[in-house]
Amino acid sequence: MTGQVDLDGYADAGVLAAVELVNALATAESTPKAELLDTLRGVLAVDPPSVARLRPGDAPGFLALARALRRVFLDLHDDDVDAAASGLNGLLAKHPAHPHLAKEDGRWRLHHHPTDVAVVPMWTAICAEALARMLGAGHGDRLGTCEAPGCGRVFFDVSKNASRRFCSTTCQNRVKAAAFRLRRSRRTRKPRR
Ligand SMILES: [Zn+2]
Repeated sequence: MTGQVDLDGYADAGVLAAVELVNALATAESTPKAELLDTLRGVLAVDPPSVARLRPGDAPGFLALARALRRVFLDLHDDDVDAAASGLNGLLAKHPAHPHLAKEDGRWRLHHHPTDVAVVPMWTAICAEALARMLGAGHGDRLGTCEAPGCGRVFFDVSKNASRRFCSTTCQNRVKAAAFRLRRSRRTRKPRR
């Protein structure tokens, strides 16, 4: 065992969609609806039928979902796994996952969302189920929040020891540079004797 997470692609897709939804929407309250829909089309592009069914009226539901998912990441960041679990249970109680097999390109694949429902309940079930699966497998620490001041973006940590701290090398470099500047200014400010 290497400690590497090896999930089936579908579960991964749910986690990645949750990450993208949070990063794109969680703080987008003031974004005009048209722009919000464009952003959503990008996030849902992994499933073209969802993009086709997306309506302007779905935007508030996705905003609420993004905020709820962000709460889960924040709770995990604060090591409050109980709060994260009850947040996910709340989402799953409202929009339960519904495992079923669907044939795609001649191959049966397991889906976890309810069939024939609107896009918001469907994606709530997909994201909540995927995050719940991570938590249930003891991988809650892989649902990370960037530690760079003022960033707050979330990420799926696939590093070997779940040790990633930043959303991007940009944030990592920013924090490193700030720490370097701080050390240097402390050195130069040393009182003279
Ligand atoms: Zn960041």
